[in-house]
Amino acid sequence: MTANPEHSPGAAAEACPLCGAPVAPGSPRCAECGLHQSTGPERPNPFTAASLWALAGLLAVVYALTVVAVMVAR
Ligand SMILES: [Zn+2]
Repeated sequence: MTANPEHSPGAAAEACPLCGAPVAPGSPRCAECGLHQSTGPERPNPFTAASLWALAGLLAVVYALTVVAVMVAR
């Protein structure tokens, strides 16, 4: 994405990272979906690799417990 001043009229409205609707500069929330605009690339994403690995580990533990329960039950 190139910063071309000829194609950016005035203060370019930021696009909502969730729904893509233009958000007025300085507006804390998206008018379309209500997403807080502070939840941008600068903020840590809640779906980080660490949380994904933790979720995968939790699923693996639940799967293992289910397999053990099935083997014990029969
Ligand atoms: Zn939005």
